[in-house]
Amino acid sequence: MRLRVLGAAAGGGFPQWNCACQNCERARAGAPGFEARTEDSLAVSKDGEFWFVLNACAAIHAQIAAFPPLWPRAGRTSPIAGVVLVNGDLDHVLGLFTLRESTPLVVYATDAVFRALVDRNAVAQTLKRFPEQLTHRRLALGAPTPLLLPSGEPSGLSIVARPAAGKLPIHLVGSSDPSPEDNVGIWIHEDGSPRVAAYVTAAATLDGLRPALDEASCVFFDGTFWREDELIALGLGKSTAREMAHLPIGGPTGSLAALRDVKARKIYMHINNTNPILDPGSPERRAVEQAGWQIATDGLEVTL
Ligand SMILES: [Zn+2]
Ligand SMILES: [Zn+2]
Repeated sequence: MRLRVLGAAAGGGFPQWNCACQNCERARAGAPGFEARTEDSLAVSKDGEFWFVLNACAAIHAQIAAFPPLWPRAGRTSPIAGVVLVNGDLDHVLGLFTLRESTPLVVYATDAVFRALVDRNAVAQTLKRFPEQLTHRRLALGAPTPLLLPSGEPSGLSIVARPAAGKLPIHLVGSSDPSPEDNVGIWIHEDGSPRVAAYVTAAATLDGLRPALDEASCVFFDGTFWREDELIALGLGKSTAREMAHLPIGGPTGSLAALRDVKARKIYMHINNTNPILDPGSPERRAVEQAGWQIATDGLEVTL
């Protein structure tokens, strides 16, 4: 399978429009090594012809423009055969509503995430102007879901969604009950191949995930924050990393230590603009690279 990081930043992107932290300032100034990144999204294909996009952020038009295999090949069509959602956070779903120009969309999501997206959401009507415009394929927890081509044939790829410790999207807190379906990690399998890619970019803990991470050949993991109190220490926010459903990288219980023994190729993505690993000269960057991790940039490709 071919995997392509369409966007490597956490919500807000890098630089973030309203942020003047050191990293964002340097990215705006074009400092070497501070590459701008769009919000988190990963594309995967078995044949290079049809693609599945994991998470649709607000920058999806720019992400498609930057990657010719996602360009239409005739008339009003798209090689994007499906969009997979890991949760209902706006930085993962807003792009769906910008793909409203009447090409049918297939969304793979748990019932909880899909319902929250379309119920009581007037804007969702723009994707339901004709019956086949929006198709939901349900992700059941822990069971394989085949990814289908537009013809209905199997693509040769399938995914397993596993519940990850998360939270409701901010806009649903207080109006919806939390469910294990609210936030998942995605394991991508290819027929006839032992190689598996894991995509877990929102997880407050490793509970229930660790054995399955050991099965993966390549892990794209939550690189949102280095420190638990990163936003608080910088005076930029009030929530801790775990309160925002992101396990920090650093510290004795962070992902760098906890995933030390995972043998897979390991890539941090969904990186918040405040994270010191974005600074090529920082000790945090050195620590991550010395531990064998890669730091995703937009356009990074992995073939498994
Ligand atoms: Zn996110
Ligand atoms: Zn910033």
